[in-house]
Amino acid sequence: MSKFELPSLPYSYDALEPYIDKMTMEIHHSKHHNAYVTNLNKAVDGTSLEGKTLEELFKDISKHPVAVRNNGGGHYNHSLFWTLMKKNGEGTPSGELAAAINSTFDSFENFKKKFSDAAAGRFGSGWAWLVVQNGNLLVTSTPNQDNPLMDVAEVKGIPILGLDVWEHAYYLKYQNRRPEYIENWWNVVNWDEVAARFSAVKK
Ligand code: MN
Repeated sequence: MSKFELPSLPYSYDALEPYIDKMTMEIHHSKHHNAYVTNLNKAVDGTSLEGKTLEELFKDISKHPVAVRNNGGGHYNHSLFWTLMKKNGEGTPSGELAAAINSTFDSFENFKKKFSDAAAGRFGSGWAWLVVQNGNLLVTSTPNQDNPLMDVAEVKGIPILGLDVWEHAYYLKYQNRRPEYIENWWNVVNWDEVAARFSAVKK
């Protein structure tokens, strides 16, 4: 039996109010993410993929059943996403990460615009990402539950920041106003966590 598990949220369902509402968080975590975990376990149980880590699966995801791609991506992406947010985010990064963002994108504001544009411009469902590729920072986006660790990704790298732009992530509060959701989301970004992930990749 596979044993991918739904992680607990590192905060309460209402912690990200008013930017992300309690009901959205509750449904997103306990229903959507939970379904990815359940369906991922179903997809790998009893197959040669059982026991592999998500990272191992992503490396040659194009060779595996689409249910593994969709639900494995869904599980990984959401597990990461929850850790990248917190109540009262710092607003801006500091330290080594801030320096890297400034040197890559000229300014934090330019980075924010580029990332927000990637998130707003992703047609349909998907994710916007800040990744580290060979030591460099890049902004990219993926459709559906794909991510930059997958062999199918146009831009590959290790994700250190990600934003879910599926309608289920914002529709209850923002309806069709994805750009407003994106703008508000910056208030809950956990920059300490992003910086820690950046440092870990750089080592
Ligand atoms: Mn989602």
